[in-house]
Amino acid sequence: MPGEFDLIHRYFEAATAARTDVVLGVGDDCALLRPPAERLLAVSTDTLVSGHHFSPDVNPEALGHKALAVNLSDLAAMGVEPAWASLAITLPSADEAWLAAFMRGFSSLADAFGVALVGGDTTAGPLSVTLTVQGFVDAVRSLRRDAACPDDGIYVSGTLGDAGLALRMQQGVLDSPPVPELQARLDRPTPRVQLGLQLREFCRCAIDVSDGLGADLGHVCERSGVGARLELAKIPLSNPVRAYVQATADWSVPLSSGDDYELLFTVPAAQRSVFAGLAAGLATPVTCIGEVVEAGQGIQALAPDGSLIEELEKGYDHFRA
Ligand code: ADP
Ligand code: MG
Repeated sequence: MPGEFDLIHRYFEAATAARTDVVLGVGDDCALLRPPAERLLAVSTDTLVSGHHFSPDVNPEALGHKALAVNLSDLAAMGVEPAWASLAITLPSADEAWLAAFMRGFSSLADAFGVALVGGDTTAGPLSVTLTVQGFVDAVRSLRRDAACPDDGIYVSGTLGDAGLALRMQQGVLDSPPVPELQARLDRPTPRVQLGLQLREFCRCAIDVSDGLGADLGHVCERSGVGARLELAKIPLSNPVRAYVQATADWSVPLSSGDDYELLFTVPAAQRSVFAGLAAGLATPVTCIGEVVEAGQGIQALAPDGSLIEELEKGYDHFRA
């Protein structure tokens, strides 16, 4: 049975491609890193716990991908260029086949975005993964939750509800077998890093949709001191989610299931026509689904039948679920 330091040496030491701003990576008491002068360092942490965020028999390669993807999604949401990651992992046993697969998933996504694994911690215990990612952004160009203004257009990237529908299928709640394209959205989300970088030209306000559209738009409204008006008919849906909503009239899948990791952002009124003209050249398709209104009106959603939904369903809350 390999020990802690064998695992570190075999699986973490040369896990990712080198970066010139890593002066000293895995192996010493600290990593030594050289952030660029004049830029801000953005830092974000997310934890995935077995039994809460994934089932204990999860495919380890998918988990390695997802652990990094959800963290990179937070950098994407603020228009940050990813650079470094630290991985704190707790393992029930020194299962090398499991760890090798986990690191295959982790490293291929890290290499795709030029992220270097620079340190971490390895302990024994119930399976959980905590990742910290760091990246760089120019002070005046970051995207923030508190920057939406009345009359801004509200946009989302990609499609919403795919991961939520996959989860329901996986849990056997629906009378339908898993659909591979939806399952891939749940297991291996694509962080919208490139889109986040492109958006810095047009907007100041974004969030990633990790808790559900209603909840995450709610965070933006609360932080920005504004309300929002949405048209549900405009929300971009994949074919399976559209068919599900048409058959059930259950809007909770696109409105309140998390885990899609798309970006929600607002474009100021003055920028909207320029933005619309350039939208086709963005890394990910984007759709305008409503607009920001004055505070006090909350989030109002116009249903396709013309009725008004006053309060969108809340997203996932770990302490209330
Ligand atoms: P210390 O006991 O001084 O905190 P450790 O023995 O925990 O150091 O770790 C030794 C080296 O291995 C450190 O550089 C640490 O950052 C790195 N390391 C440990 N676990 C991981 C991991 N899961 N991923 C990346 N690096 C790790
Ligand atoms: Mg340690």
